[in-house]
Amino acid sequence: MSLFSAVEMAPRDPILGLNEQFAADTNPNKVNLGVGVYFDDGGKLPLLQCVQAAEKTMMDKPSARGYLPIDGIAAYDAAVKSLVFGNESEPVKSGRVATVQAIGGTGGLKIGADFLKRLNPDATVLISDPSWENHRALFTNAGFKVDTYAYYDAEKRGVNFDGMLASLNAAAPGTIAVLHACCHNPTGYDISAAQWDQVVAVVKTRGLTPFLDMAYQGFGHGIAEDGAVIAKFVAAGLTFFVSTSFSKSFSLYGERVGALSVLCQNAEEASRVLSQLKIVIRTNYSNPPIHGGAVVAAVLNNPELRALWEKELGEMRVRIKAMRQKLVDGLKAAGVKQDMGFITSQIGMFSYSGLTKDQMVRLRSEFGVYGTDTGRMCVAALNSKNIDYVCQAIAKVV
Ligand code: PLP
Repeated sequence: MSLFSAVEMAPRDPILGLNEQFAADTNPNKVNLGVGVYFDDGGKLPLLQCVQAAEKTMMDKPSARGYLPIDGIAAYDAAVKSLVFGNESEPVKSGRVATVQAIGGTGGLKIGADFLKRLNPDATVLISDPSWENHRALFTNAGFKVDTYAYYDAEKRGVNFDGMLASLNAAAPGTIAVLHACCHNPTGYDISAAQWDQVVAVVKTRGLTPFLDMAYQGFGHGIAEDGAVIAKFVAAGLTFFVSTSFSKSFSLYGERVGALSVLCQNAEEASRVLSQLKIVIRTNYSNPPIHGGAVVAAVLNNPELRALWEKELGEMRVRIKAMRQKLVDGLKAAGVKQDMGFITSQIGMFSYSGLTKDQMVRLRSEFGVYGTDTGRMCVAALNSKNIDYVCQAIAKVV
């Protein structure tokens, strides 16, 4: 009898499980559209030039590795604030944003969740139906009851916006609403600017706590365009949470670079909130690692490198859009009768293809094309070499 005798085997992470299956697949034509990672047209994970340039400067002047402050690199936190709220924005100028460096976007969400649990332990967390798989698990593990708000309308192929508003309208005051700031994962469907205005209004009248998850800023329509939703919440006079991830936008997945920003009523409140966020961090992992944050800060705070980053991010965005169009055209050419044009009205890395679980299983087992059972495919992993094969495979299963 050991302490661990009764430990149950946890279910495999659905996405990482797919990756393992993919790695073991001997099909020479196999294509991994399961995981949310951007690959370039050569099928490679890009190492951005702006990142290489920043790293070269750092290598030329190697520095010792002391502990960072609990809230991370000051220049990094400042850069995140400007990126999320705008350099000249009132929240930044008045000092009422508390920002901490975090271990990826996931870390930002978790710090926020742990802090919220202290503030409002009985609150329910509402996530979109469906949402990024980890939202439910993360907020449940932080001790919250997690429910969903209506989001995807499979028949209409889009957002069930009336349903979304109705769900938010029915939520009790204090409910935490997790909102995808842009590039909704997994569906690829975002709400319009006018619909955001309505969401902001409901959040305000119902007294909900907005938690904006911004994991794809710059992957949708542009850095400013994707970030525009933040200004709407600011203009409404709301206080709220924003988690940021640079995993995709800097192609720095393994460096775990992210942040949490909390917009408070004034600078004094922000300093109290910051002090509590620091306790959450201190008691979890003490302080963040240096490298990824230093790279991102060096890029964002240097005009030339920043311009290079914007160019490279723009290229990723444009390539994804081109792949969406090629997918639509390729499916048509491969004989798919139904109109797949909806794929180009989706945005970001993912496409909810509308394929059934059975069709997704057949794609995997017969063709080595890996997407999730929900029909989600990562269009950012398509390229000029694999697109025809993927289109032919889909045409054979639909
Ligand atoms: N939020 C959403 C919606 C995501 O899709 C992801 C990553 O896929 C994250 C957060 C987490 O990002 P990170 O890898 O930086 O932790």
